[in-house]
Amino acid sequence: MSTMKINIVTPDGPVVESEADMIIAVTETGEMGILPGHIATVAPLQIGALRINKGNSTEVVAVHGGFIEVRPDVVTVLAQSAETASTIDIARAKLAASRAEEELKAKKDDADFNLIELDLKRALNRISVFEGK
Ligand code: ATP
Repeated sequence: MSTMKINIVTPDGPVVESEADMIIAVTETGEMGILPGHIATVAPLQIGALRINKGNSTEVVAVHGGFIEVRPDVVTVLAQSAETASTIDIARAKLAASRAEEELKAKKDDADFNLIELDLKRALNRISVFEGK
């Protein structure tokens, strides 16, 4: 069976460089399942889990927005930040989630709620990827 390459790149450098049988990404318009040979396309990503299937194993990566570029033999993700489940610092993510929740509750006039909601979404995404959900 054919495979495709998957590269996930952030400003800190490459996070994933591997081969996949199937990739499932959460784009702005919903889940996208990608098999080798997929037509070329580009889509914006949501904050979500990207799943990389190879044989019997699945690697789950917390991806925080950015873009996915699909070509028949290679898929590239460009994101501001991304972490594989094994590199997630769960204590940091839980702290970030509770900090964002407190800030939302405090309802300060000068708070930027859109930014705080994005902070919370990133933290919850890291927690669910770490927990394998
Ligand atoms: P925090 O408030 O904890 O800094 P953040 O959502 O603001 O989190 P980002 O701006 O998305 O963090 O990322 C900054 C850098 O820190 C990136 O390299 C990202 O991969 C890393 N990072 C953030 N949170 C975690 C975490 N819980 N575990 C591992 N790496 C993390």
